[in-house]
Amino acid sequence: MDKLGIYIHIPFCMRKCAYCDFYSIEDMDRVSAYVEALIAQIRSFRSMGFRHLVDSVYIGGGTPSVLSGEDIRRILTAVRSSFSVSNEAEITIEVNPGTLDTSKLSAYREAGIGRLSMGLQSADNRELKMLSRIHTREEFESSFLLARLEGFENINVDVMYALPGQSRETLAATLDYVMALSPEHISFYGLKLEPGTPFDGDPQITAAIPSEDVQYEMYLSAAKKMEDAGYMQYEISNFAKLGMECRHNLKYWNCEEYLGFGPGAHSFFGGRMFSYAKDITRFIAMPEDSVALFEENYIPTEREIAVQYVMLGFRLKRGIDTAAYEARFDDDFEARYQEKMKPFLLKKYILKTKTGYRLSKKGMLISNYILSEILDFKEDEA
Ligand code: SF4
Repeated sequence: MDKLGIYIHIPFCMRKCAYCDFYSIEDMDRVSAYVEALIAQIRSFRSMGFRHLVDSVYIGGGTPSVLSGEDIRRILTAVRSSFSVSNEAEITIEVNPGTLDTSKLSAYREAGIGRLSMGLQSADNRELKMLSRIHTREEFESSFLLARLEGFENINVDVMYALPGQSRETLAATLDYVMALSPEHISFYGLKLEPGTPFDGDPQITAAIPSEDVQYEMYLSAAKKMEDAGYMQYEISNFAKLGMECRHNLKYWNCEEYLGFGPGAHSFFGGRMFSYAKDITRFIAMPEDSVALFEENYIPTEREIAVQYVMLGFRLKRGIDTAAYEARFDDDFEARYQEKMKPFLLKKYILKTKTGYRLSKKGMLISNYILSEILDFKEDEA
């Protein structure tokens, strides 16, 4: 039976953060109708759901923890009644401090959720305020400890760098604080000024963002700090204790199949790539009519999938396994990419490994540039 990951999008947030371009709304009056629509959409896949074994479910957002524990339980019941879900499936929910309580956490446990992903971002209350997050460091800590008390033994904490006004010292203090709590996983992202967000084009924000050189130092010293403490980097932005990597996200980076539900969700399923429009009104009105909801829907060529595979594979610390690439795509990796990789190999942005190639730490810092040079996104079928 083929393995499958499921992503479920919850597009609600208490308040929109000033830097965020994820699809979410603040109108909580629509939660009930949305949950019903989501369940209907999940159930509409029932006829094909049992052909796969679901080994990961990821409930993301938005802020899934604004829903009640009962809503989350009903959504997961719909997944289980429409798909074969492995007993060992990794089931994750994103939660935000300030939206959690004991009853939600115990409902998550009862629903089979074993992994929490907590959006801390910074342990500095001034930085949190500037990001317009709804929580404080103290609220995060209460939520984290409550989750431990409820028996969650697999917790990710999100941390951001390159924040306006952030210094090397405040970032180091955030990481020290997080690691003292000993979560199993840390996601470490740089702030990007996304078009259309309040941060984008705000001259005060732009002026307060650390310089590129400082950002590089922040990234390299943070990676070292985490690795010294036993959080091994396995992806450009992700660090985990041994064996605690996020299995669901690894599916994306390994170009494996996943099925997304909800507005804005993407899928790679049955050889097809599709995504739904970021339109909750349309979604609630016709959740079972995939055709009406599609934003895109196409069958990628083998070459397009191979390009994705290389692009995503280079995000991983272990990089590209050339034998695995060749077995999957019947294509000679070195013949295709060696010439373009040469300048980056010479400058050690790309390193040769026993099984293929990977980015060095300094290569990871400029991964987008390297990949745009190596990969021709319009590669021919030839
Ligand atoms: S809580 Fe998360 S998803 Fe919601 S606006 Fe803030 S960053 Fe975006």
